[in-house]
Amino acid sequence: MTPRADEVVLRELRIGLLRPFRTSRVTTTERRICVLEFREHGETRGWSECVAGEAPDYTAETVDTAWHALENWLLPAVVGRSFRSLDELEGTLDFVRGHRMAKAAVETGFRVMAAAERGLSLAKSLGGGRERVPTGASLGLGEDPDRIVALALRAVDEGYARIKMKIAPGRDYDAVRLVRDAVGPEVPLAADANGAYGEADSAELRRLDELSLLFLEQPFAPDDWLAHARLQERMATPICLDESIETAEQLAAASALGACRMVNIKPGRVGGLGAAVRLHDACAERGIPVFCGGMFETGIGRACNRALASLPNFSVPGDLYPVSGYLESDIVRSDVRVVDGSVEVPGGPGLGVEVDAGRVDELTVRSARVA
Ligand code: MG
Repeated sequence: MTPRADEVVLRELRIGLLRPFRTSRVTTTERRICVLEFREHGETRGWSECVAGEAPDYTAETVDTAWHALENWLLPAVVGRSFRSLDELEGTLDFVRGHRMAKAAVETGFRVMAAAERGLSLAKSLGGGRERVPTGASLGLGEDPDRIVALALRAVDEGYARIKMKIAPGRDYDAVRLVRDAVGPEVPLAADANGAYGEADSAELRRLDELSLLFLEQPFAPDDWLAHARLQERMATPICLDESIETAEQLAAASALGACRMVNIKPGRVGGLGAAVRLHDACAERGIPVFCGGMFETGIGRACNRALASLPNFSVPGDLYPVSGYLESDIVRSDVRVVDGSVEVPGGPGLGVEVDAGRVDELTVRSARVA
């Protein structure tokens, strides 16, 4: 049986980003983050984080829709209950369609509690093995090309295993070329468009083949698997899908169409760690390597991502770098550092990092209790 929680406290935290981060769709300056505390008999049993963003620019979910789904539907269905297995827990959440980031927060809380109860690290409980996982650096869109080049060079100096830069129409080939020329041919370099292009831009995108990219991520709209397939057929650079893949069925379709040769797995987007592991396995069966992307999480979410990324088919460096690189403040006590392009996977039982409850309270702007 899984552990149970007779009470879950939802909190919204506000934490500034050290630097505004710009994609082809939005600019983020402050994170609004929903954190869940699972309690039993008044004692904290586990923590999780919902990665839904401020605006519905990545998926349709936002912190406000997630809060609503958690408070009204998802948490009332699980509070006070234990389950024969985590699969049964996931099945219980299935009556809600979509709202995957909200579901992932609930599922992750139970997984963290279950691993802790068995004295297992989250990584081990998911079937992961590696003690360190490679991490890349992620660079937002900038007005100033020299600044992007300087940030890329700094990331190379700091030993990051890969550099990913955001691109958008009009700020693609030339911007990526500048970085490629500056860092040299050996540094793994990738570009992420967050779906900013239309199929009419395919010729422009194919020029990126000259720059030996590790991958081109999500050039087209999430549901346009056909356009991705047609581009992949005519492009040597592997296309990586991110927003397009929320379910195992979507992966099967994308794979059958030849729409991608790589997948960015984020547990929030796909509905939880269990779903992320199943997607990882399905990609491995098809020979599709994966990496774990980032959502500017707190140390809670990053600990979960590092645990997930310790599975073997996470063979491409992810966005697993320390929280101190992007948030003004964190809610876990951590000294994670990038050494030789990798970060440590938490090895202690459960989440494996210590949450600073006092800091959580200081950053909280609203809370609710489901019991
Ligand atoms: Mg992406």
